[in-house]
Amino acid sequence: MGSSLKHEFDAVIVGSGGAGLYTALEASRVPGANRTAVISKLLPIRSHTGAAQGGIGAALGNIEEDKPEWHAFDTVKGGDYLTDQQAAAILAEEAVQAVYDLENRGLPFSRTPEGKIDQRRFGGHTRNFGEAPVRRACYAADRTGHMILQTLYQQCIKNNVSFFDEFHLVDVLIEGCKCMGVVALELATGALHVFHAKAVLIATGGFGRMFRTTSNAYANTGDGPAVLARRGVPLEDMEFFQFHPTGIRGMGILITEGVRGEGGILRNGKGERFMEQYAPTLLDLAPRDMIARAIATEIRSGRGAIGDPEQDDYVHLDATHLGRDMLNKKLPDICDFCRTYLSLDPVDKPIPVQPTAHYAMGGIPTDLNGRVIADVEGGVYEGLYAAGECACVSVHGANRLGTNSLVDLIVFGRRAGRHMSEFVNQVDIGIIPADAEDRARDILDKLSNQRSDERAEKIRASMKTIMMDVVGIYRSGDEMAKAVRQLQSLRQATEQVRVGDTGKAYNTDLLELLELQNLLDLAFITAACAHNRKESRGAHAREDFSERDDGKYLKHTLAWLEDGNVRLDYKPVDLSIWEPKPRKY
Ligand SMILES: Cc1cc2nc3c(=O)[nH]c(=O)nc-3n(C[C@H](O)[C@H](O)[C@H](O)COP(=O)(O)OP(=O)(O)OC[C@H]3O[C@@H](n4cnc5c(N)ncnc54)[C@H](O)[C@@H]3O)c2cc1C
Repeated sequence: MGSSLKHEFDAVIVGSGGAGLYTALEASRVPGANRTAVISKLLPIRSHTGAAQGGIGAALGNIEEDKPEWHAFDTVKGGDYLTDQQAAAILAEEAVQAVYDLENRGLPFSRTPEGKIDQRRFGGHTRNFGEAPVRRACYAADRTGHMILQTLYQQCIKNNVSFFDEFHLVDVLIEGCKCMGVVALELATGALHVFHAKAVLIATGGFGRMFRTTSNAYANTGDGPAVLARRGVPLEDMEFFQFHPTGIRGMGILITEGVRGEGGILRNGKGERFMEQYAPTLLDLAPRDMIARAIATEIRSGRGAIGDPEQDDYVHLDATHLGRDMLNKKLPDICDFCRTYLSLDPVDKPIPVQPTAHYAMGGIPTDLNGRVIADVEGGVYEGLYAAGECACVSVHGANRLGTNSLVDLIVFGRRAGRHMSEFVNQVDIGIIPADAEDRARDILDKLSNQRSDERAEKIRASMKTIMMDVVGIYRSGDEMAKAVRQLQSLRQATEQVRVGDTGKAYNTDLLELLELQNLLDLAFITAACAHNRKESRGAHAREDFSERDDGKYLKHTLAWLEDGNVRLDYKPVDLSIWEPKPRKY
């Protein structure tokens, strides 16, 4: 391999979404630690963070009284008490400064008439420990994530962060418990590059593409967690995957919870405001898991709006009473989506919606400084970090509240970036083996040489159907046991797929197969964890075990991919602030 394909940096960050860019900003800010690289399979501003719509939660109290303590409590209760409570306290405390930092860095937030950052309501965010909804979500119309990404990217360029765009992570170099770098495929040339580093942070985002209907971008294939799992790193709480209540019917494209935050109402096929039955206090602003289940229950009970024979039934999100001016000013992209995809104006007609697979609560386990956890005792890898949706600190527990992901990226991205920059200043760069890229090369060679006629599209479609129908909103034991076996055979089938394109430049055939294998490994782990958790908590709703069981299951799952199977163990939940209580809204 030519020397030009080896690179050396202090810190290498994989992923250029909100988490990766914020980490890079912090890691590159401290003098002496300015040798930071960001590797991304996409051009940075195409990362999924740019699609985030509704807002970023912080108890600024600009419109009405609010406190970080209330925010932390809501986060813990919203997570059905599986949330680590010190992590939630940090999230809520540091959210306030994080939002002001973004403002100071140039983020154009929507404003109140007096010029303060405006705030709106969002599901599960309340005043005084659950009394009533509170205005906590700071926003830039319905383009909050887009603005965050633009702001952070510009700041990273200013700080001389080196960007390697369209480089695809294939392997993370780990020996024992020490990380030494990563190997990535340059998409334009097909060349492998070794990035030798003192510290690596994985921020590759979510993996909603394992489901048939999802709000997630095509690139959200869970590459980081899957590569680490194959390297022996455990994954945490993978059974908890959030369905957002309001995806555009049949397409899954997200309609932000901000619509309900501004007063939008969900109605069933008879026009009834059904959330009155399910969450009498918070109604349409109850947490997402409850609303997604309520919609599924209405539809199953025959009270949905009747779809075409080809499509499932749905419910309506009614925003017609909000008026044209307010919709155009506060939710302009949502209005555009409806006009473009549904030929419908939400000013005149309610929006047809169905739940859509949205957010991975689980992922790579980390401590409060983003260091990746190696075992049930909380031991950590040296020089290996994770942040953002692919990580699990665990601040979202069994169900994330809206607006808490963007906060998570900034708060824990910043903490990880700071820790990394201190770490790289203290250690020398290790020696990297001469054959560092061999494993990655073997993976790619093997895929390129497969010659059987299995079709990737067919395998992908089967995975999505299994995950949607069996490991979706409602789950039950027997069906999931079967799903685990089916996913296992789909994993094996990918080893027979023929890669049609034999070229080097932009070989999307090969890339999609890599991504499919990553998704399948994570789907397999998700199904195994969901089958194992015999209770209902947050987004994990078992029809055969419909109650929460704190006696047996108030613990985090850790899952290892070992010898082609999943091994499970548990890690305690941090309950140091609040006693778990039944969740009522
Ligand atoms: C439609 C939508 C709306 C949302 N709205 C909100 C909201 O209003 N508020 C909120 O709090 N949350 C919201 N969320 C959730 C939130 O936006 C995401 O959880 C968050 O942005 C994820 O950020 P991230 O930095 O972890 O990953 P991403 O932004 O997804 O970025 C992942 C990065 O990893 C890179 N990458 C991935 N795989 C590889 C690989 N193999 N090699 C190299 N690079 C790789 C990609 O190129 C990309 O740069 C929304 C999510 C969606 C889908």
